[in-house]
Amino acid sequence: MAEKKKPIIVNVEGEDITAQHEKEKAEGISQVGPPIQQAPPVGNAKGLRIGAVALWVLAIIFEVLTVLVVFGKVNLSFMPQLTQMIIFLVLDLACVVAGAQLWKKANHIDPVSEANSTKFWIWNNMGLIVCALAFVPFIILLLTNKNADKKTKMVGVIVAVIALLIGGLLGYDYNPVSAEDKQEAMAVFGEEDVYWTRFGKCYHTHDDCQSFSQSEQLTKGTVEQAIAANRTKFCSFCAKRDDITNVKTDDEALNEENAQDIQEAEDALEDEVPAAK
Ligand SMILES: [Zn+2]
Repeated sequence: MAEKKKPIIVNVEGEDITAQHEKEKAEGISQVGPPIQQAPPVGNAKGLRIGAVALWVLAIIFEVLTVLVVFGKVNLSFMPQLTQMIIFLVLDLACVVAGAQLWKKANHIDPVSEANSTKFWIWNNMGLIVCALAFVPFIILLLTNKNADKKTKMVGVIVAVIALLIGGLLGYDYNPVSAEDKQEAMAVFGEEDVYWTRFGKCYHTHDDCQSFSQSEQLTKGTVEQAIAANRTKFCSFCAKRDDITNVKTDDEALNEENAQDIQEAEDALEDEVPAAK
């Protein structure tokens, strides 16, 4: 393996453009900024959706198996009934969560219109809905099953409720993007490069944006790739710098990325206004 001193920058075709980038930096075309890596291709929404649905079907199959175990219709005699129930519930949860991640990813590649807000919510939160379907029927059937013993009921309900909460939290889309948002952003940025950080929630047009810390690893790609990577909003610093007002900006994300500056501002404020209690 070659010595990894600096990340290599490749374009979408896989060509090494590090030298070109360095040259641009040297010439001042590109600002000297942090290391930059190329974003992965956007991916195929249809394939992701098929994967999500397949996983969700599997989740419901595991739920049915859990019910059958509790009702004594399925019995893997080599392990206790309680263990069988917990294993099937965990497999149920794993499929629910994995499916939801694929589904959310697909929605960021191929978003739905927000014209109908109910449809928009349901479509974006299918992961949450499937999660309810994957555990609530089991909980109801277990609680109403007169033959199940108290311990099975208690453990089953506790595990299923925890799974329901975990699956719900991971299935919910906290950062939904609409077809309108994406169209808007693509109309403004087109194939231009934008940048984002590993943990940041928005994308930037400048690789030396003031919200980046110095050593931060940046990813570069088109705005379409940024949205696919869950960076759905435009940095408000970059928006101000470029005088772009017709794209959704994310002040919240900026606050997070810029926590240090905020801390400094707060400190300065404390110096100015002595703590009055
Ligand atoms: Zn920025």
